[in-house]
Amino acid sequence: MKQSGNNKHADGGSIQAAAALIRAGQLVAFPTETVYGLGADARNDHAVAAIFAAKGRPQFNPLIVHVRDLAAAQVLAEFDPLSVQLAEYFWPGPLTLVLPRRAGCGLSLLVSAGLDTVALRAPAHPVAQALLSKAGCPIAAPSANLSGRISPTTAAHVRAELGGRVAIVLDGGACAVGLESTVVQVRDGKCFLLRPGSITREQIALIAGAVETGADAPGAPRSPGQLASHYAPNLPLRLNVTLARPGEAALAFARNIPSGAAKICNLSPGGDLNEAAANLFTMLRELDCSSFTGIAVASIPVHGLGEAINDRLVRAAAR
Ligand code: AMP
Ligand code: MG
Repeated sequence: MKQSGNNKHADGGSIQAAAALIRAGQLVAFPTETVYGLGADARNDHAVAAIFAAKGRPQFNPLIVHVRDLAAAQVLAEFDPLSVQLAEYFWPGPLTLVLPRRAGCGLSLLVSAGLDTVALRAPAHPVAQALLSKAGCPIAAPSANLSGRISPTTAAHVRAELGGRVAIVLDGGACAVGLESTVVQVRDGKCFLLRPGSITREQIALIAGAVETGADAPGAPRSPGQLASHYAPNLPLRLNVTLARPGEAALAFARNIPSGAAKICNLSPGGDLNEAAANLFTMLRELDCSSFTGIAVASIPVHGLGEAINDRLVRAAAR
């Protein structure tokens, strides 16, 4: 077996080991037909937070969740008839479908960046397929590069950039496609292109008929990354609060706890920013109810994942 450091030639044994690491909440880099992915158990908030930390992403964008096939996808999301047709035609392959999350799907809310939708794809690469079937869980995976850098198409690229931050890099050779997946969303029977990618608009139109471009179509779905749409609470948010107003609920961090709040959720009593990221969307949703007049957010440090946490809170407060 060819290997150096945590770089493992992808064979049955190393894939089995990687699957066990995924189940244990660790990060695993693996090849897909598009680019190498930085994977974690998509049900585990802490593991998903670790993806953002390893990439050094300054924002929480929703991640693509990889599944074996359509049947596995239908457990997680609600499929309309056109999305079923697209999946049947293009899966396994480089098409990502954005779909409503199924109630009780068990997916991390951080994987959806707090949205009610999830982006799903069944990859064609045999190593990705073997990893998914051995792990037995959906795997969240953005490209395995540092934020702002180019997507990796070889294991050597991944090792050079993220080698020290992942438990294992499965080496499956160079990626065949080398371009990201195409992201689409069906709304009211119409197919919207959210991100161009390796499957062309013309190919999708063969199945979907017309393909609308997300940005300019009337009633277009808003896509993070393309348009500035993000999870936003219904209640008004105030930031850097030490004293809550009457009726406000509070989002605390460590010992920064707004006083006088009607209810308090502490993102991380111990002051761990990865734990805070893992809890962010779940706690925001818990506090975002009509029993309160607003959400008072304590000050949160801006280093590490604190940058992405603050980014999201500032956007939510600016509405
Ligand atoms: P990446 O995983 O970084 O390759 O990128 C994922 C792409 O899918 C980004 O362009 C996201 O904006 C898009 N995406 C993922 N989840 C959603 C979602 N729930 N709604 C809309 N777009 C999404
Ligand atoms: Mg990327």
